Amino acid sequence: MMIAAVGLSACGNIPDNDKPEPVFSELPSREAPSESHEESESTADPESGEETEEEGEHRYLICVPAEYISLREQPDQGGAEIAQLTAGTVVEWIGDHLNEDETDYFRVKVKDSGMEGYVSADYCVEAGFPYDESALDIVHADRAMYTYEDMVEDINALVSKYPDRLSKEIIGTSVDGRDIFALVLGDPDAEKHVMLQAGIHGREYMNSQLMMKMTEYYCAFYDDGLYNGKTYRELFGKTAFHVIPMSNPDGVTISQFGTEKMNNPYLGDFLYSCYEIDRQNLCYEINTNGDYNWSDHYKEDGFVLSESGNPREITFDEYLTIWKANANGVDINNNFDAGWADIDLKSWPSYGSYKGDGPVSEPETAALRDYAQRHDYECFVSYHSMGQLIYYDVKGNKDSNSERSAELSELFKSHIKYDTVNTNGAYNVNLGGFGDWVQLSLDKPSVTIESGKKPCPLEIGEFVSIWNRHRESWAMLADRWD
Ligand SMILES: [Zn+2]
Repeated sequence: MMIAAVGLSACGNIPDNDKPEPVFSELPSREAPSESHEESESTADPESGEETEEEGEHRYLICVPAEYISLREQPDQGGAEIAQLTAGTVVEWIGDHLNEDETDYFRVKVKDSGMEGYVSADYCVEAGFPYDESALDIVHADRAMYTYEDMVEDINALVSKYPDRLSKEIIGTSVDGRDIFALVLGDPDAEKHVMLQAGIHGREYMNSQLMMKMTEYYCAFYDDGLYNGKTYRELFGKTAFHVIPMSNPDGVTISQFGTEKMNNPYLGDFLYSCYEIDRQNLCYEINTNGDYNWSDHYKEDGFVLSESGNPREITFDEYLTIWKANANGVDINNNFDAGWADIDLKSWPSYGSYKGDGPVSEPETAALRDYAQRHDYECFVSYHSMGQLIYYDVKGNKDSNSERSAELSELFKSHIKYDTVNTNGAYNVNLGGFGDWVQLSLDKPSVTIESGKKPCPLEIGEFVSIWNRHRESWAMLADRWD
């Protein structure tokens, strides 16, 4: 059903301009979006696959393409285009159109213009709780550069504004001396606990911004916000969310500022020494989505840049922007004690894919490992970029945990509409990730969500899409255990 992963969307190469901000404050409240959706499917006309709205009910959806989605006269890719709808456009649902090949469409009416037509169902999510965007004034989303300093400032502002629903703790210190924060949203003594972490790969810092804005959203609408008829206070009072918004603050800072903001003076030379090796393996290529992307060829014997037809070598500045590892050149997501000895990736410090000298050799890895054992968590969620995918399961998982991870992935899929991928297969032999370790060592379900469509670092133009897909997903998760 989902086709976003390989970029077969209606999206083209239009500039990311004039993206409308969501206008939810005018929308009528709708308390149980997911339930209504299920009801609506059960009343579909078996003849045509079409279904129409019941009297008096309004269901609103938000369009979430990376660029734009076509509003079409007919429910298929070839249908004449009436308009192009950008991320954040609110539409009223009129009916479902389920095609046999599972390219499902919704018949909708655009809220602002009143235009009616069909849109691909994969690019529309439930609008959910109608909120007032102007109430969210702490975490910025107008630019992609969300720094470690921004995060620290925002954490302090949020904790002092919402002390009864949000607390912070420093759970470790990075190689270059930055704090690793954990936030607890909800009641710290709640019956249930969930742990989420983002920013373990430096260049994927948009997810840190997403974690922070979601935290602000739930705090700001704690008493008014509703999911499935329950307030956020009720939901997070029963299930506390432990959020590590930036697991690898040094990596984020390297990707954003290069060597400029490093505290340890030797790091400039160290990063250049990584560059000197990696530059010989990095090639600027078109990826499966049709975007240019730097990719590694270190596994290919005798790979020489000049013979590959590559138009140019990566510069040092470009190299630093794609940095994923910590300040020791260790990829934290290959450093956990899960199949570590069998990881067959790079043997040198690098921007990515070096597993380190030993399992949990890095302070960032140890901080996450220790915090993951603090509570008996219901599940774990890791946020990465990019690909618009949800990975679940791991080779060596117990059957019962494979099942629970699969269920968790389906739950997220129903809400954020990314495709799911089972990683309990032969192709993913290199483990050492946080999600691998929590599944294998703690026997807990875990998913890894890959946000975004374009190569990292993601551009701010994708944020409206990512935000609207994810905004209510924590409430959905908390509701699951209620
Ligand atoms: Zn990642």
